[in-house]
Amino acid sequence: MNLVKVINLIKADINKLENERKKQIEIINKQFDEKIEKLTIALQVNMDLNTICIKCEGKGRISYLDAAGDTDHKVCDRCNGTKLEPKEQTL
Ligand SMILES: [Zn+2]
Repeated sequence: MNLVKVINLIKADINKLENERKKQIEIINKQFDEKIEKLTIALQVNMDLNTICIKCEGKGRISYLDAAGDTDHKVCDRCNGTKLEPKEQTL
């Protein structure tokens, strides 16, 4: 039985699909990269302009559940209660 032509056709089809997948992934990656890059720039601009602590949102305190399950508050460990964003900003 000679199936060489069929085998070669299937191989070519697989190759074609793999190449098409690669192309589409590249297009999708590029689209997401562009969107993420724009948002990253917007995020950085806003973080540069922001002066309020992003962890406690300017409250100076953070609420948490204590061992008994009751809400308690503690001084924000990001701004140490100043309500201001530390100069050294990290995401
Ligand atoms: Zn804070």
